[in-house]
This record gives sequence, structure tokens and C-alpha cells, in this order.
Amino acid sequence: MFSERMTRVRTAMAAAEVDVLLLSVGPDLPWLTGYEAMPLERLTMLVLPVDAAATLVVPRLEAPRVVERGDLFALHPWTETEDPVAIVADLVGPAPVAAIGDRTWARFLVDLQRRLPSTTFGRAGDVVGPIRAVKDAGEIAALRAASAAADRVAAQLQAGEIPLVGRTEAEVSADIGRRLLAEGHHRVNFAIVAAGANAASPHHEPGGRTIAAGEVVLCDFGGTMADGDGAGYCSDITRCVHTGPIPAEVADVYAVLQEAQAVGVAAATVGTTCEAVDAAGRAVIAAAGYGEQFIHRTGHGIGVEEHEDPYIVSGNATPLVAGHAFSIEPGIYLPGRFGLRLEDIVVAADAGVDPLNHADHALIAVEA
Ligand code: ZN
Ligand code: ZN
Ligand code: ZN
Repeated sequence: MFSERMTRVRTAMAAAEVDVLLLSVGPDLPWLTGYEAMPLERLTMLVLPVDAAATLVVPRLEAPRVVERGDLFALHPWTETEDPVAIVADLVGPAPVAAIGDRTWARFLVDLQRRLPSTTFGRAGDVVGPIRAVKDAGEIAALRAASAAADRVAAQLQAGEIPLVGRTEAEVSADIGRRLLAEGHHRVNFAIVAAGANAASPHHEPGGRTIAAGEVVLCDFGGTMADGDGAGYCSDITRCVHTGPIPAEVADVYAVLQEAQAVGVAAATVGTTCEAVDAAGRAVIAAAGYGEQFIHRTGHGIGVEEHEDPYIVSGNATPLVAGHAFSIEPGIYLPGRFGLRLEDIVVAADAGVDPLNHADHALIAVEA
């Protein structure tokens, strides 16, 4: 798997005329080698020349964590008195074009630029992102397992098993987080719980507000799966519930949203551009008069990161290919009143759209 990915990355490097790829902290390195750099002050960096053997420069005290893969890279541990930037610069040598990982600490890029004045630096994301965006069968299976785990928590929410009324948003958020872990995640990446008017803020930080009867409660949560099914891949789902009977206006707005989301999912076929998928669902919301209240893009790719290529947004003319995995998550936000969002992860497949989330799409009234 890793050597196949490395081959694809080298092919993309050659096409983009990148001589050397430099990967440090962030998800590109574990995706490519299985090794995740510790996000600390000591430099870890994979130096991957387009046509020569790769080297993983790693702090000596972290070297025991590396699962050695002689077929992929040589290991170059550095001691506390060495300068790791000098080691990397030596390995880069006279390469005219380097692409460096998007998450690399700025200080290392600044130091490398100083040592390599004739090297041009670009972004590794431009090389690796489009490759990571297209999932293979194993990755799709992992995303499916992650989505199923999130679906189980959503079902608990919709069944009224997660108490809402009388608890704070932050308490419910923590409860959802515990349930994500219990269902197979090893890390909770976020658990937005936004009640009433707070739901009109798409990235609301769950706080001390106590949830009352007669409110929309928007829950958007996801995490990264533990070893086993889905290992290393992310979930992301949004469902809204209502504490008690649903007022007609909320039901009407939700009906628009649910149709827009279904239209967006149906549009996500191989060959359709990302911006056309965005436009499809947006048109439903605009036709109902809520165009100005849908204030974000339709979705984002998902994989080992919660947000990655491809972005389902106006201006992205990338056509979907089989294996693209991404969210379809339109929202309608009425400031000062309430907000609604509905989100599934889907995969573009040759046989048609492959939705990974199956939790009930309705706005469910839970007992207040
Ligand atoms: Zn978001
Ligand atoms: Zn989400
Ligand atoms: Zn999302």
C-alpha cells in the first residue's frame, strides 16, 4: 500500500516538476509512510527525491517509534547536538524545486529557505492532496466503518437516549464525545452542540447555555477511528433534533433543507464538477427564498483529515472521479432564531453515488 502510494506521489511530482518532497508534521507523512511525526519542536522530515531513495530525518529519541520500512525510506536519526536543518539541506542538495508539507512549522521552512537560497519552495498539498482525495477500496471501507460508528451515535440522539433538556450544550457535547469513543473512535475531533438561536452559528462552540424545551438542537460531530475497522479515518455527521413538538415554520425550513441535501447527494456523480454539486442543492434553498441564509460551501473531502480535497464549492471545477469522498452538508441559518444543517458523507462511485451515512434524515422531535 505505502509503496504504491509513493509511486503515485513520485509520478505526480514528476508531472509537476517537483524535485523533492519534504514532509513533516501533519497527515501527509503517515498517509505515505505509516509514521506520524510528533508535533513538537524537534524536526522530523521525510526527504523524498523524485528519482532517488527517500530518507526520514528523525530525532534520535523518537527513532524507536519508527516502524522501519527499508523499501520506503532510510532512517537518519539526529542527535541533540546536530542541526537537523543542515541534514535536510544536505539531502535536498541542488534540487531546484521543493514541495514542503502544508503543516510544517514555519520556522523550519524559514531556516531551510535560508540554507537553500536557490531552491524554490512550493506546497506539498498541491502534489499530495489530489492523490489523497481519491480513495482506494480499503480507504472507502474505513470511511464506511467510521460513518457507521457516527450513525450509531446519531441514532442514539434521535431515539432520545442522549438527555438534552436541562443539560448544557457543553455537557451534551461531552456525552456525544464519549459515545463516539465507545463506538470505535480513538479521538473526538469535534462535537458541536448548538441549541436554539445558537444553531444559527454554523461553528458554534458548545457552551454553558442550558437546553430548553421547544428548541432545535443541532449536533455536528466526528472523530478519527481507532485501530481495527476504519483505523485512522474520520467520521463527520450532522443531525438536528427538536426538543418537543416541531413548530410549522421549523418543519417547513427543514423540508427545504432536506430536499436540498438529497438533491446535492443525487448530483454527486462521477464526472460532475464539485461546483455543480454545490449549485444543485443551493438552487433548492435559493428557490425557497433562503439563499442568503446558506452561508457556507456545500462540503469538504474527508479521509485521514476531517477537511481535505475535494472542496464542494463554487469555483472548484474539478470533476468528481470514482473514489472521491466528501460531505454534503447544506445549512439554513436564521440569526437570532434557529439554524438547521444536514450532513452525510458520500463517495462518488462508478455505480452511482455511495452514501456512507444512513441515520434518519428527518428532523425528529425528541421528548422534552
Ligand atoms: Zn464545519
Ligand atoms: Zn460536520
Ligand atoms: Zn463536515
